[in-house]
Amino acid sequence: MNQKRIAILGSTGSIGTQALEVIEANPEIFSVEVLTAQDNAALLIEQAQKFRPKEVVIGNETLFDHVTSALENLPIKVYKGASALISVVESDSIDMVLTAMVGYAGLLPTIHAIKAGKDIALANKETLVVAGELIMGLAKEHQVNIYPVDSEHSAIFQCLTGEAENPIEKIILTASGGPFRGKDRASLASVTKEQALKHPNWSMGAKITIDSATLMNKGLEVIEAKWLFGLNSNQIDVIVHPQSIVHSLVQFEDGSIKAQMGLPDMKLPIQYALHYPQRLKSSFPRFNFIDYPSLTFEKPDLETFRNLAIAYHALEKGGNAACVINAANEVAVDAFLKDKIGFLEISDLILDTLSKINYVQNPTYSDYVQTNEEARRFASELIQVKA
Ligand code: NAD
Ligand code: MG
Repeated sequence: MNQKRIAILGSTGSIGTQALEVIEANPEIFSVEVLTAQDNAALLIEQAQKFRPKEVVIGNETLFDHVTSALENLPIKVYKGASALISVVESDSIDMVLTAMVGYAGLLPTIHAIKAGKDIALANKETLVVAGELIMGLAKEHQVNIYPVDSEHSAIFQCLTGEAENPIEKIILTASGGPFRGKDRASLASVTKEQALKHPNWSMGAKITIDSATLMNKGLEVIEAKWLFGLNSNQIDVIVHPQSIVHSLVQFEDGSIKAQMGLPDMKLPIQYALHYPQRLKSSFPRFNFIDYPSLTFEKPDLETFRNLAIAYHALEKGGNAACVINAANEVAVDAFLKDKIGFLEISDLILDTLSKINYVQNPTYSDYVQTNEEARRFASELIQVKA
């Protein structure tokens, strides 16, 4: 059998490194064609020496000479900058692109990969949040499959296997609740980034970890689910499940609910996306019911964790609203990580930005670019004023 040739955008991150573990464990099934990273040149070099891709991209241009000289004795082409990302994904020798970079930066490379006919294993949820309608339309036009890597969406996708004829009544996305579950607004006012970065169940990149603490991650996932599964906002429920064992659920029109379960380990959804529809044998630790005598479920607290309510609002508003909240959130999370704003100000900043940026009902790609730029500029200015 021919190996499936994979490009990993963001190979040095949490998802990227776990994807390489999956590939390393299955060398007869996968090969690595492209690796890319923004700043972590040392790890990118190490990965390239080990996995021997045909091409690598270092986003941060000042690191280009360093990467080039480290790899000069190997048959690996080295490129730099954001523009290289959009050309490497088009190579004939790629079968699938794993989008494992963080944030809005994922949008353009994903568009180019789809237009080049590459199947997508989608971890970069921001792409669908910003421009879900555009992306799903392009995927249809170019007959490209988008396989979810996000654990909740992978769970839904797994539950839908064999159900092509059966409409979804609703889906239920589970949320761990993050490190601040159960806290009220007064106690959240003074939480630090160190506290916010301690996720109870998952080890992830900084941005998604803060998004999990604010519940924005779940909000982004609600929007991601709308586009992946063609649902309305009233068909997407969120329930807090602190043990992160039930990864999400689908309810069908007869009332039956299917759930996908297991210990929290991103390697499972990663390999399911890379090798769909076959399941790969794994040695991941197995879930044992006896170790978890109580799996618990509770309502999310939308008054305290306003970002989830804001995301539902943006989803219902449609147009460029989700692009606005994504941009404002990226700026706000960055400012929180630099101690420029407090935890509760993240939602304030997003709401202020959403009320300020012009609404566009049917955005084109250039409308998204403009919306993203304007929302970022406005949110950054608000932070300057506050500082
Ligand atoms: P991370 O911060 O650990 O890694 C991000 C990767 O993207 C790194 O390789 C980095 O070099 C690269 N990168 C950063 N900025 C970039 C830019 N401007 N242009 C190009 N590349 C850039 O992040 P992560 O936790 O691996 O998350 C990656 C994506 O996967 C995010 O969209 C996140 O929401 C999603 N996701 C992550 C998890 C998880 O468990 N980590 C789970 C579900 C979804
Ligand atoms: Mg998730």
